Amino acid sequence: MSSQDRLNLILLGPPGSGKGTQSRRLMEKFGIPQVSTGDILRAKRKEKSKLGTEIREIMESGKLVPDEMVIEIVQDRLQSEDCSYGFILDGFPRNVSQADSLDSFLEEIGRNISQVITLDLDEDEVVKRLTGRRVCRQCQAMFHVDFTPPVTADTCDQCGGALYQREDDREDVIRERLRVYRQETAPLIDYYSRKKLLSPISGAGTPDDITNRILNSIEEKK
Ligand code: ADP
Ligand code: ZN
Repeated sequence: MSSQDRLNLILLGPPGSGKGTQSRRLMEKFGIPQVSTGDILRAKRKEKSKLGTEIREIMESGKLVPDEMVIEIVQDRLQSEDCSYGFILDGFPRNVSQADSLDSFLEEIGRNISQVITLDLDEDEVVKRLTGRRVCRQCQAMFHVDFTPPVTADTCDQCGGALYQREDDREDVIRERLRVYRQETAPLIDYYSRKKLLSPISGAGTPDDITNRILNSIEEKK
């Protein structure tokens, strides 16, 4: 398989647009890993170290953790064996500097991004989705108290794990995350559009609707 044949995807979109849910589905469909900087950072901050505490404080405020930290995480991850046939980046890059460094890194290792899928969603909808979101502690599966409730309250349908609400899914922190998204991340839409990599997709509707739109767009781009 040449590097052109690999599915090296970026999912871009505001918090709550469904990047996590959709990248998990794509991971199952294509057998390539989801690389979520948010998930990796949430695992790291559990460590009882100065760094763990620092990461926790930044994430709970809705701001971005330092570029050097996430860049290193992503570079490590992309070099592991399971990423060699493709990957789905979820939550990275989040600003132009991260995107530039990703570009040079991929060039160094002789790979490239095949497609950037953006999920578009109104801010009001984002707030509705995130305030009702519950996440499985064990497998990170996502539910919504009104839209996609678990069969048994507070319990994961998939693995039986306990569901919890992320600290950054509070309305004031959500507003800050949206502000950061508009200011730092939204410029990447232009950035990847200029590189002819962008496929904008509506993030409205059911998770199945969105998956179908994404799969169609991957098919068209081939
Ligand atoms: P969402 O996309 O719903 O905002 P994530 O789980 O992707 O949630 O990220 C949660 C938090 O983790 C962010 O608000 C930020 O503090 C941190 N984070 C995740 N990815 C990055 C990144 N690429 N650069 C800097 N900070 C990040
Ligand atoms: Zn679970």
